[in-house]
Amino acid sequence: MLAETKTNHDSSNPRWVANAHAKPAVVLFIIVCHAGALAAPWTFSWAGLASSIILYYLSMGVGITLGFHRLFAHRSYRAPQWFKIAVGTLGCLSLQSGPIRWALTHRLHHRFSDSKDDPHSPRVNFFWAHTGWNFYWSPEHLGLPGHHRFARDLYADPVARLLERGFLPINAASIVLLLCIGVFAGDVPMGLSLVTWGFALRVVLVWHGTWLVNSATHTWGYRTFATNDASRNLWWVALLTFGEGWHNNHHAHPTAADHGRRWFEFDFTYCTICLLELVGVISHVKRSTSSRVSDRQKGDPALHDNRYSGRTEEMGTEPNSGGNELNDAHPGKKLR
Ligand SMILES: [Zn+2]
Ligand SMILES: [Zn+2]
Repeated sequence: MLAETKTNHDSSNPRWVANAHAKPAVVLFIIVCHAGALAAPWTFSWAGLASSIILYYLSMGVGITLGFHRLFAHRSYRAPQWFKIAVGTLGCLSLQSGPIRWALTHRLHHRFSDSKDDPHSPRVNFFWAHTGWNFYWSPEHLGLPGHHRFARDLYADPVARLLERGFLPINAASIVLLLCIGVFAGDVPMGLSLVTWGFALRVVLVWHGTWLVNSATHTWGYRTFATNDASRNLWWVALLTFGEGWHNNHHAHPTAADHGRRWFEFDFTYCTICLLELVGVISHVKRSTSSRVSDRQKGDPALHDNRYSGRTEEMGTEPNSGGNELNDAHPGKKLR
């Protein structure tokens, strides 16, 4: 089942590493959050544990997987504004970024998967793909106006812009809220327990869960589709991320809402999407059976190399237009 990975890229001199600038504040914040998470055993309470589990699902399963990834980045379904605000707010609680920067980075990953322009390829090294890329910013990323085209739809979306601006206030408010609930419902130690378990530990777990999609599912697992990247399907990452571990399937059909293909590839988030569609909350769900895969896109090296030409314009930005086409830039033939 395991297929040899083929790419059209030379990643021996990763552009992101060569031009990267350190972000010391981000490094310090990530270290502080990990230190806070390590304090969890000394602040244990059942309420703290419950807050950690509930907020893990809400920020990872709903915020990142259902919201930032399948709605904002890939537009796998259509949703009303209130729904976008709700899932986008929960996505911000994952403390990764606002929806625009998250989707932009992710679209760049799909566009340049495992090439020298991939923001977080394990072809640099595993640590870079997992965590290291967060410690730097690169002019190749947000510094180049050309790359803003990759999120043109989101820059024009007032909901996405509002959430992007509200990213830090939303998280600050969540800490204050957890502290106040704990103090007023119990005492100061209870407040500290909720902050430690519901914020610090939970955020660290969500970070590593999300980062494993960038690192582990481009390193270990099996391949169903012969995509032009190193993406793989990995069951335990799928469990941790509510379906995102079926990453090779996803790279084959990026706009499809269903990431699982075989009976054992359980995709919790796709089940949620089907339920939301059934009750009429969301609509126009894109599925792998209807995802566009054109012969022109298959193995076309120009899709990877011609970054700032007209092809980049196709990346996508108008709802249900060229963006969806280009988000399917790495389709692959099924191996079996
Ligand atoms: Zn990937
Ligand atoms: Zn994706």
